[in-house]
Amino acid sequence: MTSPAPSKAGPKGTAAAAPADKENHKPSNFLRQIIEKDLAEGTYATRRWGGSPGDAAHHASGQPDPARVRLRFPPEPNGYLHIGHAKSIYLNFGLARDYGGVCHLRFDDTNPEKEDTEYVSSIIEAVKWLGFDWENNGPSGNECNLYQASDYFDFMYRAAEYLIESGNAYVDEQTAEEMRLSRGDFGHPGTNSPFRSRTPEQNLARFREMRDGLHEDGSMVLRAKIDMASPNINMRDPAIYRIRRAHHHNTGDKWCIYPMYTFAHPIEDALEQITHSICTLEFEDQRPFYDWLLDRLCEGGLVATPHPHQYEFARLNLTYVLTSKRKLAQLVYDHKVTGWDDPRMPTIVGLRRRGYTPEALHLFAERIGVTKSDSWIDYSTLEGALRDTLDPIAPRAMAVLDPVKLVLTNWDTVMGAGKLDDCSAPVHPHHPELGKRSFKIGKEVWIERTDFEETPPKGFFRLFPGNKVRLKYGHVIECTGATRDANGQVTEVQATLIPDTKSGTPGSDAIKVKGVITWVGVNDAVQAEVRLYDRLFKEAHPGTGEKDFMEELNPDSLKVVTAYVEPSLASAPAGQRFQFERHGYFVTDIVDHKPGKTVFNRVTGMKDSWGK
Ligand code: ATP
Ligand code: MG
Repeated sequence: MTSPAPSKAGPKGTAAAAPADKENHKPSNFLRQIIEKDLAEGTYATRRWGGSPGDAAHHASGQPDPARVRLRFPPEPNGYLHIGHAKSIYLNFGLARDYGGVCHLRFDDTNPEKEDTEYVSSIIEAVKWLGFDWENNGPSGNECNLYQASDYFDFMYRAAEYLIESGNAYVDEQTAEEMRLSRGDFGHPGTNSPFRSRTPEQNLARFREMRDGLHEDGSMVLRAKIDMASPNINMRDPAIYRIRRAHHHNTGDKWCIYPMYTFAHPIEDALEQITHSICTLEFEDQRPFYDWLLDRLCEGGLVATPHPHQYEFARLNLTYVLTSKRKLAQLVYDHKVTGWDDPRMPTIVGLRRRGYTPEALHLFAERIGVTKSDSWIDYSTLEGALRDTLDPIAPRAMAVLDPVKLVLTNWDTVMGAGKLDDCSAPVHPHHPELGKRSFKIGKEVWIERTDFEETPPKGFFRLFPGNKVRLKYGHVIECTGATRDANGQVTEVQATLIPDTKSGTPGSDAIKVKGVITWVGVNDAVQAEVRLYDRLFKEAHPGTGEKDFMEELNPDSLKVVTAYVEPSLASAPAGQRFQFERHGYFVTDIVDHKPGKTVFNRVTGMKDSWGK
């Protein structure tokens, strides 16, 4: 069993320097090997500025800090983070923590159109909730490693001018269509733009006109001048700046030209003195450009050398789950779910509301590990991590989700009319120190409808006429029959109580029974709304086939029932997790559960039901 508790140092990006794996007992992986090699060889210990001291002022992290591993998590603030991001967060912040380094949270906000401050705050909250932060109060002083790419727009502009001056960039005035055609394809080299041979002076003048708003959106772009015949299409003079008159949530209307992501990202890494720039595999083909650009800027002394390097890992694909912010946004805007925090959503806020804990997500990330080849992780791995972290800590409770009344017909005679009898049960079977919970049994109790069968199938040991079962933590009873309505639906089950058989009393072993059923007292149970969530998609690999992912939604992903739960649960605070005996894990809803209104979400059942 893996401990749900975070490691001693706390899951922060700030732990004191420590040699990693042996002490952390973490399985090695290719990223750990790269980091360990760089630390051993002092790859970044010699990092130094190439340029004038004034250049250092541009560097977000101040003076070089050669001893540290410096990683970053760079979300684009265009939606809420999801389970795939949790993998990346755990990887980056976790590696930084394990190697005594730091991890930056950086908003990659170079695209003015889609970004929003709502997303910025939601991302900050999600990373904090996962147990990580970006403050570093280490030997080099107090650092707050929270950055936004848009803060570097001035530097990026300057870097672009440097590329022009050094003959490494040109303004291209071809139409988008002309550029597309001249790019070539996998089998054919591209052809040079007629604007490619302009002088640096001409290009600089043009680029400044772009900046000053003298040209229409889309009328020209700045391109890196690399090689139109490169076998890597990303190296065929990629665009690095475009004209776009759009309001930016951080820089307002200051700019009408914006850097392209592929140009901006390496610069952000270099300015922050990132050592290992870890990203998902789809960026593998961008790595040559990443290196090309930073090599040029190192030559010009604009960034410190050696510059950061990019390493790619396989993104998380989880069965029955969408991990694309754009598609998740569509579910929200089309009201297919109640919001980003709908408990069926794989967003961090959704998972949290569903009842997931940071510890469960850490264990999940730990178990799936990190590799260099794409694959699908079975959803049961996520639920397994949840059960394994909740089982040791979740208080137990009884709940009846599909209630039918059971009447103990001899109660008045054997126990006394109107009398209630005390029952108790451990809060947690393995933690006696957590004490006991108490509730009462009376003449009428709620039981699960499925615990009664008129004519039992083979192997059914619960209630059927003539059979004896134990009411868990209570007495042994013998079923005598049931009443049905006009439709044949059972409306009441009857049984007789066998005196002196209550659990925990000397007589409890007198009668052996094969069945034990859960129940709550009609007298003291609390009515609760219970939301039974199921997978949001019917298809294991949503959005990957012929069909639109919107058509793959599971119409039965939510069933709301009126249940009865143990009396103590009425006072549970919002966000408290329980194991309902026999049923699985449930959490009081952090939005709708209030005094006087008990609302539970099912986090997951007791056992894996996904394989079926
Ligand atoms: P989405 O398609 O969901 O918007 P994205 O890659 O565009 O994903 P970003 O905000 O750019 O979203 O992602 C921030 C970081 O999280 C990136 O480094 C990215 O590689 C990583 N990331 C995104 N999705 C996954 C995933 N499914 N598994 C692992 N890492 C991911
Ligand atoms: Mg992205």
